[in-house]
Amino acid sequence: MTDPRRQLPSIDALLAGPGVAALLAEHPRALVVKAARAAVDAARLSGGAAPAEGWDAAVRAAVVRLAEPSLAPVINATGVVLHTNLGRAPLAAAAIAAITRVAVGYAALEYDLGRGTRGSRHAHCRDLLVELTRASDALVVNNAAGALLLALSALARGGEAVVSRGELVEIGGSFRIPDIMARSGAKLIEVGTTNRTHPQDYDRALTAGSRVLLKVHRSNFQVTGFTADVAVVELAEMAHARGIACVYDLGSGLLMNLAEWGLSGEPTVPEAVAAGADLVVFSGDKLLGGPQAGILVGTEQAIAACRADPIARAVRADKLTLAALEATLALYRDHATARREVPVLRMLTEDPESVRARAEAILKGAEMRGDAQLVQGDSEVGGGSFPGAKLQTWLVGIKHPAPDTYLAQLRSFDPPIIARVAGSRVLLDARTIFPEQLETVIAALRG
Ligand SMILES: *Cc1c(COP(=O)(O)O)cnc(C)c1O
Repeated sequence: MTDPRRQLPSIDALLAGPGVAALLAEHPRALVVKAARAAVDAARLSGGAAPAEGWDAAVRAAVVRLAEPSLAPVINATGVVLHTNLGRAPLAAAAIAAITRVAVGYAALEYDLGRGTRGSRHAHCRDLLVELTRASDALVVNNAAGALLLALSALARGGEAVVSRGELVEIGGSFRIPDIMARSGAKLIEVGTTNRTHPQDYDRALTAGSRVLLKVHRSNFQVTGFTADVAVVELAEMAHARGIACVYDLGSGLLMNLAEWGLSGEPTVPEAVAAGADLVVFSGDKLLGGPQAGILVGTEQAIAACRADPIARAVRADKLTLAALEATLALYRDHATARREVPVLRMLTEDPESVRARAEAILKGAEMRGDAQLVQGDSEVGGGSFPGAKLQTWLVGIKHPAPDTYLAQLRSFDPPIIARVAGSRVLLDARTIFPEQLETVIAALRG
């Protein structure tokens, strides 16, 4: 008895076959060779039998699979507006156009067009950020985690940074405040307790080595009950009385008040600046609705210290980010325009009735009869912003004997549709499904 696995064709033999040879005319040889190996490996794993569909078809399928980019667009039917796993903020049309404009050729990234000499990439979003936040100066880096690392390194390296135990938070994706502080070279001094921290707790912790009072916004959780914390305005006063700096990690970069749409409790960046923090740190791709970026706004002195720190170079933003961020920020000059054009703001402030119209269109188009119905529920803001906030929404609920299997089926659609399960139903939240995606979702549900 010979082991059937020994009968498997060699890669060279597969490549010489007529079907695979035709593939070589259309695809890079390296890709076809990799696909042939994958097909032979799969056959070996399944005991050595030739693939039922034949070798040519197996290699062709492997070529298609391997040529597929791994970073692919998906339809977000979860209702979580800022879904970190799904890439956070979809960009405004103006931001996409700006990326395209600078991506196709050269751009004056670090070039002073007036003088014809070297310029600074830090100049690009600076004036807009100053205008919109009323801070004295601004700096854009790769993300907010990097921005906080930079802020602490620039202002507290070799010294102490004091922070409340109630604010030693972990944000998704392994971002922990104490770890960032350790890497910045600042010594972490914890004060207060999980639920209560008072001004005198900070006061008692201050020494000759203190450099920074750090305030961290509790962006992804709430503390309720017997609680106390020190407002940033008071913290800034205490810091300045001692001649040290106050840094405020705000997390989300809310540039306009959304209380009118039922979203309150998240401080805006201009409010944080007005409270007197020397540096305010926030994300570009959370509530601001722009590209991934870390933004620092604050005093000229604090921003100058950040610019001069070597970490600024290690976490610098690229030209595509700066282009997209500049275009997004420009939309905020008029809040009504921002609300209309920035997808995150549009989704967060959309009227439930207009969400309902999209859910109804899906339901009607899918013609699923008794198995599907309109369900009222809540969408989430996500991205560590407005924790606990509920946005009234409308969902398509589909009863299914094996909802998880159906969920996986939706994920295997092209483009994949990401939904969720509640009990025996698969739920699709129309809030995060764009109007131009309705036909695709309907086609997927029709099967
Ligand atoms: C989200 C968040 C960060 C990290 O922001 P990234 O842009 O994802 O790096 C830092 N601090 C707080 C308070 C946050 O909410």
